[in-house]
Amino acid sequence: MKRIVLASNNAGKLREFSEMLGRRDLELLAQSAFNIPEAEEPHGTFVENALAKARHAARLTGLPALADDSGLCVAALGGEPGVHSARYAGEPKSDRRNNEKLVAALAGQSDRRAHYVAVLVLVRHADDPQPVITEGEWQGEIVDTARGDGGFGYDAHFLLPDLGLTAAQLPAAEKHSRSHRGIALHHLVERLDIALL
Ligand code: IMP
Repeated sequence: MKRIVLASNNAGKLREFSEMLGRRDLELLAQSAFNIPEAEEPHGTFVENALAKARHAARLTGLPALADDSGLCVAALGGEPGVHSARYAGEPKSDRRNNEKLVAALAGQSDRRAHYVAVLVLVRHADDPQPVITEGEWQGEIVDTARGDGGFGYDAHFLLPDLGLTAAQLPAAEKHSRSHRGIALHHLVERLDIALL
């Protein structure tokens, strides 16, 4: 049984990643099981933040570590909220206030294009010189009126034009199979056996 620590204290993420990995020879452990505090995420890019989180968890546990960093990038806002997605409307984190700020920022704007990004980083140890890095993107459009009550974050305002539904209206399994996180994880799974040899 291979053990990997997930550099997150989010129970939902642990469950989602374990389900999507779907491997019985691999045990994903939450970093909270090791009493590890959240790492700083001070960087301007998703990949730098994910790498910082993975290294932090690997250093403190002595185990291989997997981290993710994700967010919403809106074309008309020059890529914002981007790495600031979780705290777009400031502290404390609030999905409701983030969505209100997003809708207000796009008032009168006809270009509604946006995409979610997820970057995954796996380090075999804290000083791994060759981390495994994968990425996924999910294209959509921002709508002013919230629709659906699934998902989290910006999902109720993230319309998938080909489906005519928001991400919050998709069943969880359907979201996983299409989402930025699902795509990034799919690419990681393809490389996992080689990475963990
Ligand atoms: P982090 O990757 O945990 O730092 O979260 C980044 C933030 O991006 C979240 O708090 C959400 O605001 C947003 N985000 C990332 N992925 C999703 C998603 O699948 N749905 C909705 N919002 C998301």
